[in-house]
Amino acid sequence: MYLLVKKKITKSGCMILDETKQIELALITPVGTTDTLEQLNIRDQIVDQKKQLDKIHKMEYGKLNLLTKEILDKEIKEVFDKYNITRYGLSPILPEFLYVNATIHNNEKLAIVFNYPMRYKEMQDAPSIGSATEILRAYKVVGEVVVEITKSLRSIGIFARGHHPLGDSQDYHHLLMPPMAYHAGLGEKGRTGLLIDHVLGPMVRIGVITVNSELKSSGPVIKGIEEFCKRCLYCVPHCPTKALSSTSFQEYLKKGAKFKFKINADRCIKYFETHNACGRCVVHCVLDKENKHEIGKRMDRIEKWYDKWIKSGEMKKLNAEYLNKV
Ligand code: SF4
Ligand code: SF4
Repeated sequence: MYLLVKKKITKSGCMILDETKQIELALITPVGTTDTLEQLNIRDQIVDQKKQLDKIHKMEYGKLNLLTKEILDKEIKEVFDKYNITRYGLSPILPEFLYVNATIHNNEKLAIVFNYPMRYKEMQDAPSIGSATEILRAYKVVGEVVVEITKSLRSIGIFARGHHPLGDSQDYHHLLMPPMAYHAGLGEKGRTGLLIDHVLGPMVRIGVITVNSELKSSGPVIKGIEEFCKRCLYCVPHCPTKALSSTSFQEYLKKGAKFKFKINADRCIKYFETHNACGRCVVHCVLDKENKHEIGKRMDRIEKWYDKWIKSGEMKKLNAEYLNKV
């Protein structure tokens, strides 16, 4: 009942189906596996969160207010602090983020986006019952935060709609979250097709609350992750279904700007559905290590390398020379 495979994504149809399908993998809960009591309990809580959102969305307003920086830095930050959430930002709501049939209210002009980290140790033997439970637990915490922020904003007259990460396009989840996290400046898309947070790495779940505001979005911020992924193929052999792109950097150079990471979504989904939500590619990413300082050092090195060689145009010159020789 929780399997949510969305078929088409954008109103404009401007996203490539394969590309969007792979992002949807983060939204799917496995079927064909037997739920443990703990998982059933978490699912019940998620169902309850959706009911709460339903009620909150029907709350009446008095005078309508806008989300301001002061409210963001006070009321909203208090909720994030309570849940130890440090990674959040503001994203625009672009037409290509909308699922087909999704409806967006005129007052939804901006989105508060946050990333919540999954626990490293619980994910290490993915795919397993333990890792599937951790994925569900993370969804539940994200749901709690979404409910709390939406309720808090509505209670002070700000139009807000909470998008549950395990919702569907008919009710609580109208938007593609990973590109929104990118536009909120939280990270970049990796070879797995999923977001890699600049601080937390790829093992995150995303939450979104759309609001009425005249504030500006906070991203995107490019620190070279996508460029790095073009050269790093570490996750590729860890995928049991060979679904990840194995395009090498040399092939990428020949394809130039047209190069996009794509995974074989059909292969991935089949395995994902019957193997506890898989997640091996995320667990085996070199930017996903338990030691937070180590992630920080790696991200810093990538950013320095990106600034020195890619942003400066130096690498482009070297690549052109290389292509002339081969
Ligand atoms: S490792 Fe698992 S989740 Fe990742 S692409 Fe392969 S099948 Fe899908
Ligand atoms: S293992 Fe390497 S290529 Fe794969 S997502 Fe992580 S950084 Fe990118």
